[in-house]
This record gives sequence, structure tokens and C-alpha cells, in this order.
Amino acid sequence: MPYPTVQLLPDQDRRLRAGHPWAYSNELRMDAAAKALPPGAPVCLLTADGRRLALAQFNPHSLIAARILTRNTDATLDATFLERRLARALRLRERLFERPFYRLVHAEADGLPGLVIDRYGAVLVCQLNSAGMATLEEPLLEALERLLAPAVVVLRNDSPVRELEGLPSEVRIARGALAPPLELEENGLTFLADPLEGQKTGWYFDQRDNRAFAARLCRAERVLDLYSYSAGFGLVAAAAGATSVLAIDRSQQGLELAQASAGRNGLAGVLSVERREAFAALDELAAAKERFGVVIADPPAFVRSKKELKPGLRGYRKLARAGATLVKEEGFLALACCSHNVAAEAFADEVRRGLRDAGRSGRLIRQSGAGPDHPSHPFLAESSYLKFLVYALT
Ligand code: SAH
Repeated sequence: MPYPTVQLLPDQDRRLRAGHPWAYSNELRMDAAAKALPPGAPVCLLTADGRRLALAQFNPHSLIAARILTRNTDATLDATFLERRLARALRLRERLFERPFYRLVHAEADGLPGLVIDRYGAVLVCQLNSAGMATLEEPLLEALERLLAPAVVVLRNDSPVRELEGLPSEVRIARGALAPPLELEENGLTFLADPLEGQKTGWYFDQRDNRAFAARLCRAERVLDLYSYSAGFGLVAAAAGATSVLAIDRSQQGLELAQASAGRNGLAGVLSVERREAFAALDELAAAKERFGVVIADPPAFVRSKKELKPGLRGYRKLARAGATLVKEEGFLALACCSHNVAAEAFADEVRRGLRDAGRSGRLIRQSGAGPDHPSHPFLAESSYLKFLVYALT
């Protein structure tokens, strides 16, 4: 079946030809026919001189008006197409991980724009974050059924980005039944997560390798896991031999999961949790002259839009200063930044400034990003959102 066509404006095809997967609304000819297409409609993108460029999902109401699915303009966007993409995503994860706990689909980077799927064994938790993906819900469920026959499929369709696509916020179980919390395995431990009411899909898989790295520094140390959520960092540190781990977060639910996971792994005696505002806690710990061998801070995105850039960058600087103040001599400071609007170098600059503000210096021992189940799209900078720096301080 031929798809309706949407045309790029003259000279607006260079970025797409270079491999970028999106066309913005101001790059497209938004004529009456285009505007009348339902949000998420499959379309064939044409260059200004009428050549067929790609098949995309189109949303006339979104700034990201077209998301490319394939450069093969003869393809059919159905369950079979989705299954092939899902199978490719699965093959990569099966090569990377022995156990079925990972991000199975990382949106554009896996050729499935707007789609996130986290896998907790037989439970799949999906986020359909674009109008295009939302229209493919049925074929997507069919493809998942054919590929993995999951016991449970949760649609965690409550991420704020859906609003930009004109989509409602909802959480729904599309297949099976679920009584949270469920268990997942990571870094040799068992963690509890709540895919229905937890943050995001219930677990932050992106920090797996960074948790393992940070844990190596924690043996026989007192550790602060700031912005801990369910203590993914703190419990791996505890298992690696930390003498004590203090997890701080403002989410009661996250801290309860952390404690339950600690119990499950025989680490309850090492972990203590405090429900606190992070900066207030940092101030108090500093005033009490508390010191830690390792301070890990994994805050929420301080910069969620371009206009938050300046105050957000100041926030990272302040966090680095306050964190460094609590690190003992020859201890370690690990800082994460998940703001996709903040470039790696800009984040690194703020951290350096923060260290200087604290009167500390040190050696940078790790600069990394998300784990490999969160691949980056080579032409979409936003897909490499996570930055992680570890300093051995002096
Ligand atoms: N480190 C966690 C993920 C943290 S996500 C892991 O490895 O899984 C960011 C966390 O910051 C969330 O749990 C959120 O509840 C918490 N948070 C956001 N603002 C906060 C604040 N002002 N004070 C304390 N915690 C905050």
C-alpha cells in the first residue's frame, strides 16, 4: 500500500541524507494535505524535487514532525517489520548479557523511534513515546508475542515527552497480570523494582557498568549514594565490601525498594536510607564534618529544556563542590548527568569548576556514558544523554 507523501522544503534534506533520523516541522511543506494527516501516520518523505527519501511516522502537531523508520521506501510498516527490528535489538542484548534484564529497545538507536522497552525476564515494560509508535501498539504487541511470548507487557505510557506528541498519560497492562515488586538481576545482586509505579520503567538499567566501576572503589569505605532511588549504586558498593552506605533520595518508594533489596541480598546491616532533599542533606553533612571514602551523585536532569541550561549548569557545579567537600583525602567522587541538552564537555567543565570551588583537585579516572543496552544513534546527539565522571581526589 503506498503511503501518503510529505515533502521536504528546498535544501532541507541535507541533514537527513547525512543520516539524521528526524525532520522538524519547519523543514517540511506543511500544506493542507499534510496538516490533515492523523498524528503518527506513516508517510513517504520526498525531497523538494520529488525523490523518495524514506518512510517515516508523521505528526503535524509536533516539532519533531517526521521520524524515519526506514530508508527503504518500498517497505511495509507492519508487525513483520517491527519484529525484524526487535529481533535485531534482541540479538545485540543476547550477545552482551547472560541474563534477560536490560533495555531491549532504545528508540531511534535501535531503529524504532519513540519506543523504549525494558526487559525484566518475562516482563516487558514499554514506553510508546511518539504518536507514530502509539499508532503501532497492536502490531508491536503482536511482534513481541511472536518474538518473546512475554508473560506480561506493561505500557508505561506516562513519560512527560508524550505531551509534546499530544498523547495522554496512562499506565496499562496490555498482556498478562502483574503484582509488583518484581525481581531483576544486575551486577550479581537481586533488586526489586516496581514497573507500574516506580520511576521510568521501574529501574535505571543505564547505570549498570558505572555501578560496577564505582563499586570497585568502595571496599572498606564509607559510601554516600546521593539521589540513590532504589540504591543501584549503593547496594553494588555494599556487596563489594563498603563498611556503610548512606542512600539519600526524596522518593520514599525508591528508598523502600532499596531496603527490601538490601534485605534480599543480606546487606541490610550495611545500608541506611534517608528521605531528604539532596542539597539540604549535603549542607548538613558538611556542617557535621562528615566524610566519605566515596561520594556518588546521580541526580535527575537539571536541564530539561534549553532555557534551563544556565541554572542547570550551575546546579552541576554546585553539586560537584558540595560532593567534593564530603570526600575524604584520597577518596573518590562520581558524578552523573543525564540531561541530554548538556554536552559532555560542558558537564566536565562544571565539575572541574565545582572541584576548584571546593579547593580540591584530583585525577579523572573514568569518563563514560550509559551501558551498551542504551546504544547511541550515530547521528542523533540526544541519544547519548548520559555522562559519568569519576575523580580520585587529592
Ligand atoms: N541513582 C539511581 C537513579 C537516580 S534517578 C539508580 O542508580 O538507580 C534520580 C533520583 O533523584 C530519583 O530517584 C529522584 O527521586 C531523586 N531526586 C530528584 N530530586 C531530588 C532532590 N531534590 N533531592 C533528593 N532526591 C531527588
